[in-house]
Amino acid sequence: MMKVRCPICSKNFEVDRNALPPGFPFCSERCKLIDLGRWIDGAYSVPGPPADRDPDSPRGDAATAEPNDALDDSES
Ligand SMILES: [Zn+2]
Repeated sequence: MMKVRCPICSKNFEVDRNALPPGFPFCSERCKLIDLGRWIDGAYSVPGPPADRDPDSPRGDAATAEPNDALDDSES
């Protein structure tokens, strides 16, 4: 017998080297299908733009500030 840990449900189980279960290396055929579904989901998912935009960022106010105002003030 050989001790194996299912990569899907993390369940420890034993298999016979000479009679591996149909779902090997998973504990059951159900976990094997779950793993297969994950691969398919990953293959079909399209990586989009990173959603790291922060609506609370104060950068909007800083961009509107105009440093040229100081030059106009010195002329008069
Ligand atoms: Zn499992």
